[in-house]
Amino acid sequence: MQVYADNAATTKLSKTALDAMMPYLTETFGNASSLYSIGQEAHHGVEAARETVANVLNAKPEEIYFTSGGSEADNWAIKGTAELMAKKGKKHIITSAFEHHAVLHTLKKLEQYGFEVTYLPVYENGIVKPEDLENAIREDTALVTIMYANNEIGTIQPIRELGAICRKKGVWFHTDAVQAAGHLPIDVEKDNIDMLSMSAHKFHGPKGIGALYCKKGIRLPNLIEGGAQERGRRAGTESVYAMAGMAAALKEANDHLEKNMVKMTSLRNRLIDGLLKVDLSRLNGDREQRLPGNVNISFEGVEGESLLLYLDMQGISASSGSACTSGSLDPSHVLLAIGLKHEVAHGSLRLSLCESNTEAEIDYIIECVPPIIERLRNMSPLWEKIQKERGIA
Ligand SMILES: *Cc1c(COP(=O)(O)O)cnc(C)c1O
Repeated sequence: MQVYADNAATTKLSKTALDAMMPYLTETFGNASSLYSIGQEAHHGVEAARETVANVLNAKPEEIYFTSGGSEADNWAIKGTAELMAKKGKKHIITSAFEHHAVLHTLKKLEQYGFEVTYLPVYENGIVKPEDLENAIREDTALVTIMYANNEIGTIQPIRELGAICRKKGVWFHTDAVQAAGHLPIDVEKDNIDMLSMSAHKFHGPKGIGALYCKKGIRLPNLIEGGAQERGRRAGTESVYAMAGMAAALKEANDHLEKNMVKMTSLRNRLIDGLLKVDLSRLNGDREQRLPGNVNISFEGVEGESLLLYLDMQGISASSGSACTSGSLDPSHVLLAIGLKHEVAHGSLRLSLCESNTEAEIDYIIECVPPIIERLRNMSPLWEKIQKERGIA
């Protein structure tokens, strides 16, 4: 059996999205800035996509800027705000300790330019406390940027409350909603959000396209100089097929949101309950306030990377708690932020589901994991040590 359970890394393009893209890859190939009809048809494609994305977020079309993805949207919101606010002498930014690297590395860069960053704790449950934000805001705070839902442990932040605090204090609030868009109901008005990043490939749209919602009245500096695309803020000929695919995927996800959330929550809980039967395992992140598709479990005495290899041999695609992509063996900053010890963080497994996963697939994962854990533990000197310490052996 082949089971794809790494939907937090990327998702499969939906048929609806592909169908929406095809015309712009074939007949309607015109440049959206050209005045003849195939150019204008492309232009309509861009604006229709913008309107669809805006509607889903309860925003206005002129508040949506297409970008190349989530990382670009995060960079633009943060660096753009920093540039504006530095002129007013505001050089303090508040974030959480477990943001995506697109946010954390951008902030590290700003620290080199004299910005001061406060990293709010996320506690054992992986959730920011609104009172911590309230206490951290200062006269010179330029921006608060806190993710909507965490990409590793799936915990959902109290965005509406955090946004309300920012509104009250007159500080702009940006949220990296890359894991939330298309998976949770989002309303930028009700949620008190000033800027929001999203990325199509996390909700069955194409890769290389995303958007930044930027509330009317916030005039970020241009990201790319050149033509008049994206109201002159981000120049470059529009990738109409990608925009159309993103809009179609988002609308499809939103149209089935309730149903998908119920289904995935039930699959998720079945998977959590099944895997927690393994000795010395623990669920990372709050059990209730988490994305419907996210499971993140640590198994003591196990090396996450080896676990992934064995799972791959059984046809299961998942992800671990090490920063393997960066080529280092440092455990994930997210798992360390919720207080896990290095060796426990190393033995972590993230399984992220989508609405097309089935109960049979979940049961297959539950069947495959325990024997692999046992095998790895039997080979592990660390496991021997753990058993001695606990007096098991
Ligand atoms: C995937 C992801 C990003 C990066 O988005 P890209 O479109 O791949 O650049 C940013 N933030 C979070 C939370 C993510 O999950």
